[in-house]
Amino acid sequence: MKYAILSNSHKDSVEYTVSSLMSIATHYGHEISTPEDADILCLSVCDITEVEWVKKIREKFPRKIIATGGHACVYYRIFKLYSDFVNIGHGFDFFSCQTIEEIRTLPCVVSDFSSPPYKASEKVEWRVFPIANVTKRQKYYIGAFGCKNKCQFCLTSWTHKHQINPYARQATQKYKNITLVSNDSHNTDNRMTQSIMVRDFISPQKTLKKYAVYRLGIEFATEHDRKKYGKPFTDDDFVTIFLKAQQYGVRLKLFCISGINTIDEWHHLFANIPYIYTKGKYEIKFTNLTFEMFTPLKKGRFEIDPAHYFDSTQVKQFVSYYKQRVWPLNSMPCSSPLKTMQRMAFCWSKTEQDILLAKKMKNLDEAVHALKSVYFLQDYNDDIQFDLSGKEECRF
Ligand code: SF4
Repeated sequence: MKYAILSNSHKDSVEYTVSSLMSIATHYGHEISTPEDADILCLSVCDITEVEWVKKIREKFPRKIIATGGHACVYYRIFKLYSDFVNIGHGFDFFSCQTIEEIRTLPCVVSDFSSPPYKASEKVEWRVFPIANVTKRQKYYIGAFGCKNKCQFCLTSWTHKHQINPYARQATQKYKNITLVSNDSHNTDNRMTQSIMVRDFISPQKTLKKYAVYRLGIEFATEHDRKKYGKPFTDDDFVTIFLKAQQYGVRLKLFCISGINTIDEWHHLFANIPYIYTKGKYEIKFTNLTFEMFTPLKKGRFEIDPAHYFDSTQVKQFVSYYKQRVWPLNSMPCSSPLKTMQRMAFCWSKTEQDILLAKKMKNLDEAVHALKSVYFLQDYNDDIQFDLSGKEECRF
């Protein structure tokens, strides 16, 4: 069959995904073509808000068969509104089909709403993934899918089996300029930028690479919440992070989640940073929390408190406050609380009407009321089965 593979982003990791999908399609004997010439348009989506783009493609190509796939497709109901097929999970099973009828019978493919539960596809043939020159200087390669840590809020880890590319380490030894696309923190020991768990970073056995950048998930401000949601470390461990970074001369990128803790709780945590680190470098990124349908976190969705969500002004103020004491410190954009609520409403939408209502939300009170009284009641978690081998499945 002839496929056109499209995405809505020029981010390097998305371009890599498109290259991978093309490799998988050609591996199974298909031809890559233009949207006008293709039998099927394959749309790759990684965020729920890309449903707007899928709708535009539907309008532009009303007679083409559209198959949508990618990370966001666990929210299959709204992508199905504008697609003939929604593929849940990886693309190997999908592209192995040689006819439309074969696609229709796959347990991972939604072609109508009559046959849940669907079964997320976990088939992966590692040898098919390309080492792709996404930019002139940088090669990309897949490192792993899913993550064994299973933080309570993490959609990726609760919707993908944890699988590590057995060829990734070999590739990093062969090429210096290679970025591994992955959620988990394995396979990356030799890289100058490493994502690593706090507990591993501060472990006395762990030596750090001078000048490297370490990306650490701080996530929550209190010991209680870090333990509750899956990243347990103490406030003293938080101080150890900086002492160790100073000792080894490394830089830090700290990832924090707003939506659970108060600003006072965040100040309480960051006030512990020792002055010794003032010659070091770190950056903070705040992301507003989404109560995702397929995660254990969703149990707490009705307790959502908009007062705990930050806007970019609050983030800038917070970061500036510490800039006086710790240099340099860069803020990163934080979505507004209202946009976060709208995005969350998209996740829990089932109909076009739900999407329209979400887009019209004008203030936080209205948005939170709609989430609690409409969107959060539309739970279709049980429509999809995930193979989370080795871990208890998420069924709440
Ligand atoms: S460690 Fe990161 S990727 Fe793994 S489950 Fe937690 S948030 Fe997700």
